[in-house]
Amino acid sequence: MMDWDRIQEKLQILADAAKYDVSCASSGSKRKNENNGLGNASNGICHTYTEDGRCVSLLKILLTNHCIFDCAYCVSRKSNDIKRAAFTVQEVVDLTINFYRRNYIEGLFLSSGIFKDADFTMERLVRVAKKLRTEHNFNGYIHLKSIPGASDELMQEAGLYADRLSVNLEMPTEEGLKLLAPDKNRQDMIKPMGYLKNQLILHTEEKKLFKKAPMFAPAGQSTQMVIGATPENDHHILFTANHFYKSFNMKRVYYSGYVPISNDKRLPGLNTAVPMVRENRLYQADWLMRFYGFKVNEIVNDSVPHLDLDIDPKLSWAIRNMQLFPVDINKADLQVILRIPGIGVLSAQKIVKARLFSKLNWENLKQIGVAINRARYFITCNSNAFERRDLTGTNIKQFILAESQSKYLKNKPSQLSLF
Ligand code: SF4
Repeated sequence: MMDWDRIQEKLQILADAAKYDVSCASSGSKRKNENNGLGNASNGICHTYTEDGRCVSLLKILLTNHCIFDCAYCVSRKSNDIKRAAFTVQEVVDLTINFYRRNYIEGLFLSSGIFKDADFTMERLVRVAKKLRTEHNFNGYIHLKSIPGASDELMQEAGLYADRLSVNLEMPTEEGLKLLAPDKNRQDMIKPMGYLKNQLILHTEEKKLFKKAPMFAPAGQSTQMVIGATPENDHHILFTANHFYKSFNMKRVYYSGYVPISNDKRLPGLNTAVPMVRENRLYQADWLMRFYGFKVNEIVNDSVPHLDLDIDPKLSWAIRNMQLFPVDINKADLQVILRIPGIGVLSAQKIVKARLFSKLNWENLKQIGVAINRARYFITCNSNAFERRDLTGTNIKQFILAESQSKYLKNKPSQLSLF
């Protein structure tokens, strides 16, 4: 029999400790419900919002917040005087099944502090996933956080049961890691990433040849970097992300703004939380690299080391490259249209299809979903109604900022004026 009061207490501690890890959005898993098992992890599952805007829930906990390491930026570091707890393997399994049956969750995100050593901890994480899959026939989503330094054998086993595996990079650079997490070694993170990459390629090939070949982490691998705990600029951060996308076939890199939790001299002061907008701009830049065909050095480079916090990175790039505009929307290639501010991937594809039938004007573009207030400065179409050819990049930025400011003021509740 489970002692639910005790479990409840552990849950409070270990769910709270897990909230600093943002890397549990998931996508791409197609694990089907077979043999009347429990759960069904379909495309785009995420504990908050999927890429298509759907909100799903994962049980997100640590197996334990005991840790032998002392990473300065982490609440679970060994020198921090906090309440500690640890679940047993069976407790996590029971909790997951129980929550799943009650429809509270669609899957599990499981991470952990390091108990004794990497393999000792990783072996327990793998055991949770194995029990869920083999003893409970659980088909919900499982994301396991891999412990840096875990052996290839355990990574291999983890891949057979988890949908997604991730190893946190923690700091964007090796120097940052040395400064704040001296117990950790960058190679201990990179080695399992390399192993996973090779196994993922191998299993994809096997799957092509043998339909019945076992699945291996079908939602791939991801990683997370803490932003703002060390002085790296956006140039360093996005170059690191780009390297890991290219060299390790990452599905996602997550950017987690440092939450000040300690007055350790190596860290920024307690009142210096990373502004949410910096995280947002990094995610927007990340999307430009993954879906819009931008090279990382077009977005940030030695002369533009930081993303502009006032405007999104695509608009910022366009303003720095005014010689490339205006673009004729009725003639330009898809790759060129994708670079126009105010036009997303779907709208760009619709434009290319729709113009086969007739030349597009502003009204058509509006119907397609183009944000005319931004795109109008960068395109020509089959009408010159909105065109402004006499503006510099700086003028355009000012116009767009003024417009979004006045929109904000218009929609602001009038409550304050009562006082
Ligand atoms: S190893 Fe992980 S849990 Fe332990 S202190 Fe470092 S970041 Fe925290």
